[in-house]
Amino acid sequence: MDFALTPTQVEFRDRARAVAEKLAPDYQARERAGRIDPELRREIGGAGLIAPELPVALGGQGVDRLTSGIIAEEIGRGDINVAYLQVVGSLVGQIVAANAAPTVAAHWVPQICSGDEIVGIGLTEPHAGSDAGMPKLTAVRDGDDWVLNGSKSLSFGRDAAAVVVFARTGPSPRRGKDISAFLVPLDLPGVTREPAPDMGTKAVGRGLAHLTDVRIPGDHLLGEQGRGFTQVMQGFDFSRALIGLQCLGCAQQTVDETWQYVSTREAFDRPLSTNQGVAFPLAEAETLLAAARLLCYRTLWLKDTGQPHTTEAAMCKWWAPKVAYDVVGQCLLLHGQFGYRTELPVEQRLRDVLGLQIGDGTAQIMKLIISRQKLGRELAP
Ligand SMILES: Cc1cc2nc3c(=O)[nH]c(=O)nc-3n(C[C@H](O)[C@H](O)[C@H](O)COP(=O)(O)OP(=O)(O)OC[C@H]3O[C@@H](n4cnc5c(N)ncnc54)[C@H](O)[C@@H]3O)c2cc1C
Repeated sequence: MDFALTPTQVEFRDRARAVAEKLAPDYQARERAGRIDPELRREIGGAGLIAPELPVALGGQGVDRLTSGIIAEEIGRGDINVAYLQVVGSLVGQIVAANAAPTVAAHWVPQICSGDEIVGIGLTEPHAGSDAGMPKLTAVRDGDDWVLNGSKSLSFGRDAAAVVVFARTGPSPRRGKDISAFLVPLDLPGVTREPAPDMGTKAVGRGLAHLTDVRIPGDHLLGEQGRGFTQVMQGFDFSRALIGLQCLGCAQQTVDETWQYVSTREAFDRPLSTNQGVAFPLAEAETLLAAARLLCYRTLWLKDTGQPHTTEAAMCKWWAPKVAYDVVGQCLLLHGQFGYRTELPVEQRLRDVLGLQIGDGTAQIMKLIISRQKLGRELAP
């Protein structure tokens, strides 16, 4: 067993860390602006930090998935919302690269990697998030085209230039059957957008895309017709580990700052840190973050080495965001009233990291996946 990072991993980590240090001072300003500046997006893409595991021929860097995770973690230290660019870019980029017609992939994937455009993922709908295998969005063949009707939720709902959606393309009433994936450019007639009034993640600009008789070319089908759920959804295992690391980076930064704060603020004539009741929760936080990080790294290593990792990915997705949320909440309390105030970034981090206990599937759904992997569908809840 070798825990050392390779020279390439170290190089990308340092590059992402330098970007994160530049991002951190404007984390709160980005929330106030409610957006991530497209120039910043291009800068991060230009540094090779969006979907870097994709092949060089499609604009990626050809690195391993562990490197992608390390980048998500590092950028998450500076701004958890900006890290969505890398996480969504990796998820969608690999879906499009693996399943789109070559001309469609050649058009979109390089633009994802460069940060020129965002392509969102529209799996859930207002009526069905956990039950994503029962979409109401329909896609009907009309000549050479597909015509889509329905609504999808997506991160980057305001800024995405296109979205990968999962739509019903047949009559089967069974969950996950007759579902196909499509790439839908969002500048087409019939597309309207509705912002989500979220409590956090405001810089990401989540929202809904409503599609009314939206007509897309036949070659925008991804993978095989009717197999979208089983074939195209395989990419989600990868992004679950990335989300875990995105959250852990945010929490680690908060712990680092909190050690500093409790060493310098005094109560009862001595630094706060000299109380076990202050230092020990931080020691516990370090332990939890180290354990959750190893779980995420190992999951990405399993992916990189072609081994099954669905169970581990679901573990990453339910546990790491929860650990991160609990740790950030503990750090907020250790800042006293200043943690509760909006001058410091801690309260925003708490709101932002909370969203990722829901986005991409809740803890209950992840535990359902783990149970099914262990027991089989018949015996699992
Ligand atoms: C920050 C953020 C980003 C997001 N980004 C995207 C995106 O990019 N693309 C996208 O498609 N969607 C996105 N979503 C939507 C997200 O994936 C869904 O909100 C999530 O899957 C939960 O679905 P729901 O909100 O419909 O809740 P429901 O499915 O209505 O669930 C409500 C509650 O019931 C529980 N529950 C449901 N079924 C079961 C069960 N069988 N057993 C036990 N408990 C159950 C759930 O765990 C949850 O606690 C995002 C959401 C957030 C908050």
